[in-house]
Amino acid sequence: MSLNHLDEHDHHYLASLVPPDRISTGQSNLHTHSRDQSRHPAVRPEVVIWPHTTEEIAAILRYADQRHLPVTAWGAGSSLEGNPIPVAGGIVLSFAQMNRILDIRDNDFQVDVQPGVIYKEMNHQLRHTGLFFPPDPGAAATIGGMIANNASGTRTVRYGSTKDYVQQLTVVLADGEIIEIGNRAAKSSSGFDLLHLFVGSEGMLGVVAQATLRLTGIQEEFAWAVATLPTIAAAGRAVFDIRRSGIDPAAIELLAPECIEVINRARQFGLTCSPTLFVELHGPTRQHLADAMQILEEICRNEGCLEFKPGLDRTERDRLVEARHALGEMIAQAHPDHKRVVIDVAVPISTYPEMIAYAREESLKVDAASAYTFGHAGDGNIHLVVGARPKDAQTWQAIDALNSRMVAKALALGGTATGEHGVGIGKIKFMTAEHGPSLAWMRKIKHLFDPNGILNPGKMFPDNE
Ligand SMILES: Cc1cc2nc3c(=O)[nH]c(=O)nc-3n(C[C@H](O)[C@H](O)[C@H](O)COP(=O)(O)OP(=O)(O)OC[C@H]3O[C@@H](n4cnc5c(N)ncnc54)[C@H](O)[C@@H]3O)c2cc1C
Repeated sequence: MSLNHLDEHDHHYLASLVPPDRISTGQSNLHTHSRDQSRHPAVRPEVVIWPHTTEEIAAILRYADQRHLPVTAWGAGSSLEGNPIPVAGGIVLSFAQMNRILDIRDNDFQVDVQPGVIYKEMNHQLRHTGLFFPPDPGAAATIGGMIANNASGTRTVRYGSTKDYVQQLTVVLADGEIIEIGNRAAKSSSGFDLLHLFVGSEGMLGVVAQATLRLTGIQEEFAWAVATLPTIAAAGRAVFDIRRSGIDPAAIELLAPECIEVINRARQFGLTCSPTLFVELHGPTRQHLADAMQILEEICRNEGCLEFKPGLDRTERDRLVEARHALGEMIAQAHPDHKRVVIDVAVPISTYPEMIAYAREESLKVDAASAYTFGHAGDGNIHLVVGARPKDAQTWQAIDALNSRMVAKALALGGTATGEHGVGIGKIKFMTAEHGPSLAWMRKIKHLFDPNGILNPGKMFPDNE
């Protein structure tokens, strides 16, 4: 199905749907909505619209569907695989102004939000309730973008990913129909699970106009530990043993020595440059944490731990969390003339030691001036940040080959080509290998919801269907 570019009449009609200050063809707005945080080439949309209501979204989609105009939803543009790049041009729907918290129902542990709410700001506003929304991708991501990418983060090992916190959605379908899916009960076995069909659908099946999110209680006590291990393999084994031990950590982040070096330089931590685990524990009492900390230390010592710093206070813990979240930025600052890719794979936890050792070994083979291995180790997730100068074609070829080897290894171990960043453009080429015949069923679902293919075209499917 071919899509159209906007003509003069389209611009005119769309301009009649929203006030003039919420629609733009200005070059700077088109540029801002042409690229995410990946190195995939920028493509400018033809118009950017900032809806305020579900009805406005519906009116825009109804028209776009009749005219076969591409529509791409836009949260904060923090994706890492080209997910929101409007590759076919057309309309970008930006949710920057649909960013209100509509209702906090703390008695039910739920919150109703518009899709453009930034999760960090939402958590800040929820603090007084003693509740929070745990998925934490680090970047200033919106709830709409997190739902569309099924984002997760450092705390996923204990609390799960975005899919575990989506309770109810208002979705506008490609033809403008508005549907409500899910309910407010803690559980339900009623009908097909349409709700979770939309989570992780990257804005290709419908546009999220409102979400009811599940919240969870903030634990009374927190502690962090930093464990320095002698080798990456030992760190990988320690991760597995921590998961098996039942101490249920809230975060287990693994950082290879080069990451520690960057963090030391940027934040003056003075940590030993060796494979390191940052482990966070949450619990109801200090005694609970002290017991868990002891088990954690024993596990790390069994793997030849060089240094174990337990019981860090809240300030120190906040500094470490901030440093871990800022790692991507620190790497970028360390190599200002480089472009980077973040290779993101995930494997079953029993195979994590093998995968992380493989990642480290393979990354060192690439002739890249910068290769950094780290990850949300507790849920079997590995990130490999590799960069080179934009015009260094030879190194980029080696990086692409490394990406393919990493994915092939993860799939061979029973894992996935993308642990949390989604498919976007970057992971399209692995979809057939990962999903086999079931990819055809995803295509059928896409066709059912969006027969004209207007929603975020050019993503997910190998033939750009
Ligand atoms: C430094 C850094 C660290 C990161 N760390 C993590 C991490 O730890 N874990 C992780 O999961 N991700 C991480 N990411 C990636 C990114 O932050 C997440 O994927 C995030 O969910 C994207 O949200 P966004 O609001 O920026 O969405 P965008 O990038 O704007 O869009 C993402 C997708 O959602 C669609 N979309 C947006 N809004 C809607 C809507 N209302 N309805 C339907 N579809 C919509 C878009 O079309 C697109 O396909 C990181 C990114 C950066 C830059």
